[in-house]
Amino acid sequence: MARRLRGIMDAMSTGENGRSRKVLVTGAAGYIGSHTCVVLLEAGWDVVGVDNFDNSSPVALERVAELAGRPIDFVEADLRDSAAIDAIFAEHDVDAVIHFAGLKAVGQSVAEPLLYHDTNVGSTISLLGAMTRAGVFDLVFSSSCTVYGSPDVDAMPLIESSPTNAVSPYGRTKLFIEEMLQDVAATDQPWRVLSLRYFNPVGAHPSGRIGEDPVGIPNNLMPYAMQVAVGVREELSVFGGDYPTPDGTCIRDYIHVVDVAEGHLAALDALDTVEGFEPINLGTGVGSSVLEVVAAAGRAVGTPVAHRIVDRRPGDAVTVYADPAAALQRLGWKATRDLDDICVDHWRWQQKNPNGYR
Ligand code: NAD
Ligand code: UDP
Repeated sequence: MARRLRGIMDAMSTGENGRSRKVLVTGAAGYIGSHTCVVLLEAGWDVVGVDNFDNSSPVALERVAELAGRPIDFVEADLRDSAAIDAIFAEHDVDAVIHFAGLKAVGQSVAEPLLYHDTNVGSTISLLGAMTRAGVFDLVFSSSCTVYGSPDVDAMPLIESSPTNAVSPYGRTKLFIEEMLQDVAATDQPWRVLSLRYFNPVGAHPSGRIGEDPVGIPNNLMPYAMQVAVGVREELSVFGGDYPTPDGTCIRDYIHVVDVAEGHLAALDALDTVEGFEPINLGTGVGSSVLEVVAAAGRAVGTPVAHRIVDRRPGDAVTVYADPAAALQRLGWKATRDLDDICVDHWRWQQKNPNGYR
């Protein structure tokens, strides 16, 4: 029985010619990339990763292989190096690409917009050129709910046809890339592109072996709260307590990073049904306030997370959450982990790795 099941699983994970399917993952060593590589390897995909370690560590890749119990092929390269990317396609029989690589800090993008356009847009142009030369036209792209800008509360939940309006250089790179992908998908080449608009990915692998490892002071809520809990930082500043929400703090759609990773597996499988370019929200559909996150983090840790309400952070939207119906309908995927699961897993990673991968 076990052998028969294995045979079925092998058949499911191989292409029509019997060989395993191979996916090129850009930004493989990063936070979402590393979790996705584990899920892909476990599902039977062969993976070749590429990363320049600009914001990640090779240790993450060692742990990916350890968790999956399988090796991962890897090339250290900058995506803007077209010759290096051509060489990857020449060496590996790639069926599809998942494109995570890029810079993602909103504040830094305001200070250094050219760096963001060069890295995010430039990398994507280089990648699309190499894919075209290699005849690979199946792509899953890491987009963001930031493409919706700061919509009014009455625009919630956000659907894929909600108006887009990026308000930072980072957000504009995502929007430009989506527009570029629509342009290439409109040519007579057989592109099939899913652009996954993530809401707020948080949490860590339940093993506590891989997780988010921000350099310096975290910009984001969950890593900051967990660093307070582990004693690396003193107190969390809650940005604004006078918003028009039930407890006065902003509301976001926090989604477990393993749910996000599983969304990519589902997206690869759904590419066969895509014609051209299609954006899909990856969110839970549930909004949580900053104080609800702080409370859930305290439950996971076992003691309250020290925090204080301070002034609003400029540019924050009041309430943002997804309508995840299209992901269920098109990918057969929905998030299965809640805020408590997220905090328990993030805390395990933080406790076991108080200084991240260092
Ligand atoms: P991350 O920084 O952990 O991972 C990105 C990876 O890309 C890093 O390992 C980095 O070294 C690599 N990289 C950057 N520039 C590169 C280049 N020119 N060549 C090769 N590698 C390069 O970020 P993440 O949180 O895993 O995000 C992955 C993707 O998802 C990004 O495109 C990000 O914009 C998008 N996204 C993230 C979030 C989030 O909250 N984490 C939300 C929405 C969208
Ligand atoms: N936030 C906060 N303190 C922090 C970091 C974030 O109160 O140290 C709030 C922030 O104002 C927002 C929410 O937490 O309302 C989520 O912020 P994050 O930066 O994690 O994600 P994004 O703003 O991209 O949704």
